[in-house]
Amino acid sequence: MDKTLDLTKQLIACPSVTPRDAGCQELMIARLEPLGFKVERLRFGEVDNFWAVRGAGKPLLAFAGHTDVVPSGPREAWASDPFQPEVRDGHLYGRGAADMKSSLAAFITAIEDFVAAHPKHQGAIALLITSDEEGPSVDGTAKVVEWLTQRGIKMDYCLVGEPSCVHRLGDTLKHGRRGSLSGKLRIQGKQGHVAYPQLALNPIHASLPALAELAVTEWDQGNADFPKTSLQISNVHAGTGAENVIPGHMDLWFNFRHSTAVTSDELKQRLEHTLRRHGVKYDLNWTGQGKPFLTRGTTLIDAVRAATTDALGVTPELSTGGGTSDGRFIAPTGTEVVELGPCNATIHQVNECVAVDDLDKLRRVYLGVLTRILR
Ligand SMILES: [Zn+2]
Repeated sequence: MDKTLDLTKQLIACPSVTPRDAGCQELMIARLEPLGFKVERLRFGEVDNFWAVRGAGKPLLAFAGHTDVVPSGPREAWASDPFQPEVRDGHLYGRGAADMKSSLAAFITAIEDFVAAHPKHQGAIALLITSDEEGPSVDGTAKVVEWLTQRGIKMDYCLVGEPSCVHRLGDTLKHGRRGSLSGKLRIQGKQGHVAYPQLALNPIHASLPALAELAVTEWDQGNADFPKTSLQISNVHAGTGAENVIPGHMDLWFNFRHSTAVTSDELKQRLEHTLRRHGVKYDLNWTGQGKPFLTRGTTLIDAVRAATTDALGVTPELSTGGGTSDGRFIAPTGTEVVELGPCNATIHQVNECVAVDDLDKLRRVYLGVLTRILR
């Protein structure tokens, strides 16, 4: 049996709904220690993480990923149990099959093959594994990177196994990600009777012109590396439940996905300026922020592209699209960060799956990267 398929199944069978790890990391560690890896288990808050390293000196090539998964949603919506891996029609089904237990398994099997062939490789191989990527991402990769920085450990190259591909394995690698900026806005009004609007202040009416303007604002034109910045209002709530009451306030949640052509501070100022220009009274909480990153060095990008072309006959396109990832915590240390993993068509969905053939292909790609950088 394909050993990457076998390990992926073992990992899916651990119900590691974020932030639980549910035994995934010990499965990985049990494979790494016999290869001579030194493992540091790093529990921060409720979150299990580990850092494992084999070898010393430069370059330090790390594989990064997460064992946690998003909840399965209703069991009856799935054709098979999300935590009982099942192969049907050439696909392996289960929560985490694509995001990202197949990549974790392929990291391990590629490393096993590489170490067997090159026991005295150059530099060092490391793994940075967390169980808090799908949740708040506070006690995961960010804390491990702090821990490494305190010890003077710097990754030269980091390959993140997030599912990056679109139509076929190897078609897309991510060399950066957009920034994310979230806020919760409360528009202040004055509650009153709908028949006496002169005695009230309707927060819905008061804010609509400003919101209409924000919805069509061009925040930037993007740049060579990033698409245009986008603002999306994701939640709106106002009203008392009665049709004859003007509500006292309206709540809105929103999120920016932004390029490097604009900073989060500029976006904050411009959004607040628009609200004030329309005379809107509001309270605003900026609730979350992730910086954009872009890898400019080419050593890892070139190695990943060449390994993919060799193993699969497909040359990946470079992309910065999609959501954020833990790469944003690693890139600011000066590490070259590239993300390459399985196809992402079913991630976070019911009946999440990965093509069985892609599991061994992924092992071959990761093995090619190791060989190019550390042989
Ligand atoms: Zn993921």
